[in-house]
Amino acid sequence: MQRIILLGATGSIGRSTIDVVRSHSGEFELVAVASRTSKDACEAIAREFHAKAYCGEDAALRAVEENDADVCFVATVGTSGILPTLAAIEKGMDIALATKEVMVMAGELVTRRAAAKGVKFLPVDSEHSAIFQCLAGARNSEVDRLVLTASGGPFLDAPADLSLVTPQEALHHPRWKMGPKVTIDSSTMMNKGFEILEARWLFDVPVDKIDVLVHPESIVHSMVTFVDGATLAQLSPPDMRVAIQYALSSPRRLGAVRETLDLARIGSLTFRKPDLSRFPCLDLVKAASRAGGSQTAVLAAADEKAVADFLAGKINYTGIASSVEAALENAPRFECDSVEAVLAAADWAVKFLEKRNG
Ligand code: MG
Repeated sequence: MQRIILLGATGSIGRSTIDVVRSHSGEFELVAVASRTSKDACEAIAREFHAKAYCGEDAALRAVEENDADVCFVATVGTSGILPTLAAIEKGMDIALATKEVMVMAGELVTRRAAAKGVKFLPVDSEHSAIFQCLAGARNSEVDRLVLTASGGPFLDAPADLSLVTPQEALHHPRWKMGPKVTIDSSTMMNKGFEILEARWLFDVPVDKIDVLVHPESIVHSMVTFVDGATLAQLSPPDMRVAIQYALSSPRRLGAVRETLDLARIGSLTFRKPDLSRFPCLDLVKAASRAGGSQTAVLAAADEKAVADFLAGKINYTGIASSVEAALENAPRFECDSVEAVLAAADWAVKFLEKRNG
């Protein structure tokens, strides 16, 4: 029996995770669930699974501090996941990580602490789950490149002038139904940029060996090219529960009643390079990663603030990337070897954009 603390239980990943737990009640047990904003829904989940409910601002951290489990499933929104993730690592829990900002902000710190505690990271994102499955324990020296696929979001081909995009248009993703922050990040491809950084830390592969390939059908979830020229890909219907379930069951595979892949019906799968002039966030991420230190914490926090500013009507759509770029250019640079340093970098970015964007 795998005992689980679920942080962000009422969000879209949280609800999919609950679905997986519900369909394998002999395998998984929810010990505690946390939600920052949705008290009633969180308490209803707790009643169903005889788990403890935590609600409010510091719900995630309290849920980790007051409970023991095998796995802490981190599916909170944005930068708030970092403290509970570190707390769970300190308590020796494996981390099923859906909140990619944790790795973006503090990848070096959390992977070092996890290694010291003998704690595993279980990839939840469909792309990282795909790479995890393709690697299947291969040695790092056998890997030539990681290839992250991207749906391309709603603005892959249109409209021509992205500065005119409204929040309503950006909140409509063609393939995945997700919360507002990650939906906007998907449309700017910042989400894919974050996934580059997440892959960099999860699999210890430098960002210059990680490619992004636009694949609008979202059937191939990612690939690994090995040094002998072989490329392995993982395919499944676009259903988050496949990756979530594997994170919790690996290396075993559990049965589930779900749509199976029908390639004859799909007919063809297409791939193309991302247009970096339309999606500048991808380059911002790689530059921040090469600079290292505080720059990636600034990146994550600046993006979170810029997305909120866009949704609040303070900046236009292309202002998200230019806000992040300005924050990266102006931020003081320092080592990020403590949680205080990470939070200070994030805090600087938020204050900088408060002044810049009003
Ligand atoms: Mg993803």
